[in-house]
Parts: sequence; C-alpha cells; structure tokens
Amino acid sequence: MLEKVTTAFSDIFRKIGGKASITEKNIEDAVEEIKMALLDADVNLRVVRRFVNATIEEAKGEKVLRAVDPGQQFVKIVHDRMVALLGDSKTDLRLKGPDTQSVILFLGLQGSGKTTSAAKLAARLLKEGRKPLLAACDLVRPAAVEQLSILGEKIGVAVYREDTKDAVKVAKNALAFAKKNGHDVLIVDTAGRLQIDEAMMDEIGRIKKAVDPVETLLVADSMTGQNAVEIAKSFDEQVGLSGVILTKFDSDARGGAALSLKTITGKPILFVGVGEKTEDLEPFYPERIASRILGMGDIVSLVEKAQETMDLEEAARLQKKMASENFTLQDMLDQFEQMGKMGSIQSMLDMLPGMAGQISEADINTQAMKAQKAIIQSMTKKERNNHLIIGPSRRKRIAKGSGTSVAEVNKLLKQFEKTRLTMRKFAKNKGLAQKLMNQM
Ligand code: GDP
Repeated sequence: MLEKVTTAFSDIFRKIGGKASITEKNIEDAVEEIKMALLDADVNLRVVRRFVNATIEEAKGEKVLRAVDPGQQFVKIVHDRMVALLGDSKTDLRLKGPDTQSVILFLGLQGSGKTTSAAKLAARLLKEGRKPLLAACDLVRPAAVEQLSILGEKIGVAVYREDTKDAVKVAKNALAFAKKNGHDVLIVDTAGRLQIDEAMMDEIGRIKKAVDPVETLLVADSMTGQNAVEIAKSFDEQVGLSGVILTKFDSDARGGAALSLKTITGKPILFVGVGEKTEDLEPFYPERIASRILGMGDIVSLVEKAQETMDLEEAARLQKKMASENFTLQDMLDQFEQMGKMGSIQSMLDMLPGMAGQISEADINTQAMKAQKAIIQSMTKKERNNHLIIGPSRRKRIAKGSGTSVAEVNKLLKQFEKTRLTMRKFAKNKGLAQKLMNQM
C-alpha cells in the first residue's frame, strides 16, 4: 500500500527534517522534489500546483525559517496540507435511524469492485448491529447476481434477486421487501459497464429516483489513478454522488486517486478496499493516511489492528515473560502464532514510522518463520520448557521431524539464547527501554 509515494517522501524528509537551520533555497529544493513525487504518484496536475504554491508560501514565512527546528516545522506544514488533500477528517456513512430504511446505492464501472464492496459493507453493518439487505441489480455482468448471492450467504446477509432484466423493478421490489421484513439498510448493487455510457447512466438515474438513497457511492479502482478521478467527476455530474469507496488500495503503490479526489470532485472517500476478503474494508482516515505517506507511520491503526486480532491478555503475559528469566521456546512459539494472527508482517511494518516502503515482502523471510515454527513444534514439551537439555541427538531428531537441518535447529537455538539475553538486559536497563521507545 502506497509504497512508492511513501519511499519518495521519506527520502525528501530525511534530507530536510534533520537540518538545524534551513534556507529559502532548501525549502525551494524540497518543494520541487515534493512536486516531482506527487506527479510521479499520479496526482492531478492542478492539485499538485495548488499544493506546491500553498506550501511554499507558508513555509517561507518567518515561522519556519526562524523556528528552533525548522525541518520539523516544514514537515508539519506538508503533513497538514496533505491531510487537507485527503479530505481533512473521516467521513461517516449517513444512516437513518433503525426504524426507517436507509438506501445505499452503489455505482461504478465493471470490475471496479462494486459487488465485492457491497458485500463488504453489508458485513460491516451487520457487525455494527444493523440488519442489511443486498439488492442484486447488476443485471448486465453475467454472474454478478450469483456472485452477490454467494457472498451474501457467506456473510449471513439476505440478498434480494429476481429473474428479470428490469433493474429498476428489482430495486423497487427490494425496498418493499426490506420494509416488510425489517431490514433497516438496503444496499443496491447496480450494473457497471466497461466505460461510461448513456444506457448505464440512464438506468442508474432511474434506480436512484425509485429508491431515493441516503448515500450514492461510487466504487472506483484506486489503481487507475487519475482515471478514477475522471470517472468520479462524470458520475457526479450525471447522477450525483455523495461519496466514494476506493478499492484495491492494498495494491495501489502511488495514491494518486486518493490524493486528488477530494480537491477535484469535492466528494469524500468513505472507505477503502484493502483486499479480496469480505472483511477487507476500512474507514478512510485522512490523518492516518497522510502520516503513512509521509513515512511517519500509522501507530493508531497498528494498535487498533492489534487490539482487534490479538489476545491482549496473552500478549501482556508474553511480554512479562519475555522480560523474565524463564522465557521459553514455547513462549517463542506462542509469539509466532500471535504474529501470524495479525496478518501480513509487511502490512504491519508499513504502519511503523520510518519503515514504510523500506522493506519489501521479499526481505521478510516468512518462509524462515514457518521453518522456525515447525522446529519448535517438533520439540517435546520438556524440551520447549528447557532448551538446555537439547543435545546433539535431540537436535538431529528435531531437524528430521520438522523437515529442516541440524544447522537450522542450531541457528534457532542460538537466536533464542540471544533474544533471551537481550530481553533480560532490556528489563534491567530502563534507560535502554526509554531509548528504544524514543526511536519509535
Ligand atoms: P464489479 O464488476 O465492480 O462488481 O467487480 P467485483 O466486485 O467482481 O470485483 C472485481 C475484482 O476485484 C474481483 O476479483 C475482486 O476480488 C477484486 N477486488 C475488489 N475489491 C478489491 C480490493 O479492495 N482489493 C483487492 N486486492 N481486490 C479487490
């Protein structure tokens, strides 16, 4: 996610951020580099120009040049401007009370991720205590109705479908069905086309009139960059949008669509799609994304993700144990498992300040972690609790059992010893802990 643009900004800020004093020339140079980075990220030219001019104007003022830490002041200016580009603050879905139906209309081109996103949002609303209904009104793409039905079944949300070619009729009937059966939210999946055309706009216009949605959301593929922005503009002009869902954000290295959308269309991004699974839909937080792009990390999201997926009591127990004398191989295995639960290590690292874009998936040897897990799993309970008893013959047996080599077993044991030592030192030396925290 956003690797390319993050790397570019991290480089720029590394140069200027640490300077004790900066000149107007330093600012001009940095802004020029920012301009290149934004253009490279496929940000709309008008947006780039405005961004650059405003940044220069503000940064050249006395406040920055005379500041105690001018580099940091400059970074802050760029950060705040980027938050504004992304839409200032998080925009929530506007839903009516549970006693009336809130209709959410989904539109977008074929392949943008409409059907998938409709199911993702339904799953999210269900989790929040709503009772959503999905309406299968994409009667153009073959299998779209079937796809929605399968997804609906998977997430436990009812899907309204009819065997007809009249999408307006299906939408109307779906709303009546929702009213009758106490569904408080109706999500309408509509037909896209390969490109914008009259028939599609006409149909969407009629559906919109028939169901009077509270939200009309465009689903756009973030990887198409400026194209996504143009599409949003057309849809807004012809049917009127209230917001955007940017999909495939997980695969978007550049971020051009996210950075241009608000300025060009005036429409907020409500959610981003971050994967193919039904839970891969996240609210869009401008502040967090800006920090991430600028290489400052996204600690808030990291902590939230940890809280959602980790067993906090277990984590606290492990942490305590790590700092004590009796940290065992079993604890190390538990730790691996906790990490596995949190998902890709790559996506976690990307949220850490200064780490994003610096390490690629290839650098992180997940294969090695799997092998290490297998090695510990091949040990007996006694061995896991006391590594000192693991002599040559036991090592041979463990290697065989885990499909690794004695050398790999030796390496793991050595690494374990080292971790234990470091952790013990860490526990005894509060100053060292503070230093590490500061680095974070
Ligand atoms: P539709 O024609 O607009 O209804 O598009 P679909 O919902 O069928 O999605 C098209 C493809 O994009 C499917 O293969 C989805 O799995 C994939 N997709 C949708 N959203 C995301 C996302 O956020 N991330 C990734 N990686 N893939 C996505």
